[in-house]
Amino acid sequence: MPDENYDVIVIGSGPGGLSTAALLQKRGLDCLLIEKNNLLGGKMISIEKDGYAYDLFPHGQVPLRGSAFETVFEELGVTDEFVPAIEADDPRDIITLLYRRGDKQEYKRATQGQAMADPGPFFKLWDLDPSEEEAVVKLMAEMTLMSEEEIHTLDDVTMKEWLDERDVPGPLYNYLGFHANASLAEPIDLVAASEQITIMQQVMLQGGGGQYKGGFGTLAKVMAREFEKLGGTLIKNCRVEKIAIEDGSVTGVVTSEGNFHAPVVVSSAGIQPTILKLCGEDHFDKKYVNYIKGLVPGWAFTSVRYFLDVLRRLMARHAALREGEER
Ligand SMILES: Cc1cc2nc3c(=O)[nH]c(=O)nc-3n(C[C@H](O)[C@H](O)[C@H](O)COP(=O)(O)OP(=O)(O)OC[C@H]3O[C@@H](n4cnc5c(N)ncnc54)[C@H](O)[C@@H]3O)c2cc1C
Repeated sequence: MPDENYDVIVIGSGPGGLSTAALLQKRGLDCLLIEKNNLLGGKMISIEKDGYAYDLFPHGQVPLRGSAFETVFEELGVTDEFVPAIEADDPRDIITLLYRRGDKQEYKRATQGQAMADPGPFFKLWDLDPSEEEAVVKLMAEMTLMSEEEIHTLDDVTMKEWLDERDVPGPLYNYLGFHANASLAEPIDLVAASEQITIMQQVMLQGGGGQYKGGFGTLAKVMAREFEKLGGTLIKNCRVEKIAIEDGSVTGVVTSEGNFHAPVVVSSAGIQPTILKLCGEDHFDKKYVNYIKGLVPGWAFTSVRYFLDVLRRLMARHAALREGEER
């Protein structure tokens, strides 16, 4: 059974764990990355079938320019492997946005390229009159110009509460409702205004819809490869059962493969499992434990369930069609 020492142990190989481990290793710390699954990437995995890559989460809200992934790849010295599927200034109309008002039959359309250049196509998409256009510009400008400090004051304010204090044309309200569901997988009356406004700022200043050749899972593969190339240790199929704590200080982890030691453990196993299960609530102040217990888990897991179900049915249909063609 292993009994090894490291500078840092990172739990979980999602985008958070992988980038943390790779960057710490790059900066000279000896890291151990532990993943309970066989596949790396956490929620950010892609699979390959018939020469196509499929991302297993319906992404759409990674900034086109200056994303955190871009920064990590730069620091790891592998920018040439950071290959966006569509560049921010790609002149082709590849992504089309379709929108239909509840009281209308026909869909209106605008391309992402048009919408990136100016808000006009969005205004047409939403059927805004001039006074509504003015209100939309005012509200979007307010969100874009908010400082980080101002945004942080909205951690305990829902997006709905924030919007209710403002003049919001119906179509923009609907769009923000859709956006809360799409990018945060939460309804607008549960999402923190600080979270949604941060993402809206990214969409407006850095562009939305960033995707990468080979799927997001490719980014995970490159980060894992670089981590190991730099001398990091990666163990898959190994579940962390406990974060070891002695006299109030972390000393390592207890896993299905034995014990590993480090004075620092970074966990991306989720805040509730980390505090309540891996560490144990006795190590924390009661008020903090109650706060953690009171956090409402994201609803994203329901979309994953739904998405995987749709994917399974689509793949079955695809296979049946091909079988018919071959006969
Ligand atoms: C449906 C959906 C759509 C999304 N769309 C977007 C989007 O468009 N844009 C965007 O930026 N984000 C999106 N996200 C969010 C994004 O996927 C997460 O923010 C991101 O994956 C979090 O990264 P992470 O590394 O913190 O955790 P995760 O990706 O959750 O990875 C955690 C890892 O830890 C491992 N682990 C857990 N417990 C243990 C243990 N005890 N021992 C060992 N390993 C363990 C897990 O197996 C997993 O690999 C979406 C999420 C969902 C569900």
